[in-house]
Amino acid sequence: MTIQILPPQLANQIAAGEVVERPSSVVKELVENALDAGATKIEIDIERGGHKKILIKDDGKGIPKDQLALALSRHATSKIANIEDLEAIVSLGFRGEALASISSVSRLTITSKPKTQNEAWSAIAEGLDMAVDVKPAAHPNGTSVEVIDLFFNTPARRKFLRAEKTEFSHIETLIRRIAMSRPEITFVLKHNGKTVKRYRSQCHLDDAISVQSGRISEVISSGFLEMTSVRSVQYDQINISVWACRPDMCKSVNPAQYAFVNGRMMRDKLIQHAIRQAYANSLHAEQQPEYVLFIELPADEVDVNVHPAKHEVRFHHARLLHDLIVTAFQDCIQDFSRASMLEEPV
Ligand code: ADP
Ligand code: MG
Repeated sequence: MTIQILPPQLANQIAAGEVVERPSSVVKELVENALDAGATKIEIDIERGGHKKILIKDDGKGIPKDQLALALSRHATSKIANIEDLEAIVSLGFRGEALASISSVSRLTITSKPKTQNEAWSAIAEGLDMAVDVKPAAHPNGTSVEVIDLFFNTPARRKFLRAEKTEFSHIETLIRRIAMSRPEITFVLKHNGKTVKRYRSQCHLDDAISVQSGRISEVISSGFLEMTSVRSVQYDQINISVWACRPDMCKSVNPAQYAFVNGRMMRDKLIQHAIRQAYANSLHAEQQPEYVLFIELPADEVDVNVHPAKHEVRFHHARLLHDLIVTAFQDCIQDFSRASMLEEPV
């Protein structure tokens, strides 16, 4: 074969292979876009586990008509412009690939109305050359992205779709995690026309800890809050807040484990190691730590451009961060041993 440039749709489908694994990955990308757009309310409307339809509607800043088609093309982003921006990412997205990738493996319509524009417009992506059709539409301020027939043109991927119930449970887990990270935002999750979950904005509460605690009780349970101790640790420009579960109350099956770095859900080895170390002497062998952890640090202290799906990060001061996490958790755990000493009859 001679060397040739791949047609755009094929190039996008290859990129989709990395980020669009299943319906929940589509939901993740679209909800993150809504968050980056400053939405205060996000509706996630799913049909048949996402096989049939994924519709994400937000009240964020919207996309002007003349940029709608551009939003769907590859490497098109409003979030970074140069290498300096890449060194200090403040948004959830920045690769400019999600909409292009998703639209290459589904029938995608994006409808948007910025506040400053009187009418709404829709862009519909179909066809091999990724040509985009822009038409007038009706929509309140904000954006909706509708994804129909995911993987209809990529049979290999479609084969890996699981039962509706399984795919929907992945979406539910994802929304729980995202809701946990943004307690000020309202999220409504629907499946097959029915509202399954509604997380209400906790903005009415007075301080950051109460707002977060309000959301924790919505996402996990109010009982969980009663079994946790809370700590906030600050060092330099690093802020850590921890809700750590009483060691003797920690579950062994389906433990509640939530860790966020600058609002991004993480499955990070360094964080897990630090937490395990803090709990090391207080858990039974089969028990798992249960916690909600938020780490906020300057954007240039952490590299999120490690993996397309952004599950992993690199910390510039890894050792310091590790030790701060251990300390925060140990302080929480000590609260409980102090409390139980007080309870014990002398
Ligand atoms: P990225 O998020 O990495 O920039 P995407 O392909 O997800 O790339 O989106 C491309 C661009 O489309 C974004 O940079 C943003 O300007 C615009 N966009 C996408 N979704 C929304 C939305 N819900 N509201 C406003 N703008 C959006
Ligand atoms: Mg994005």
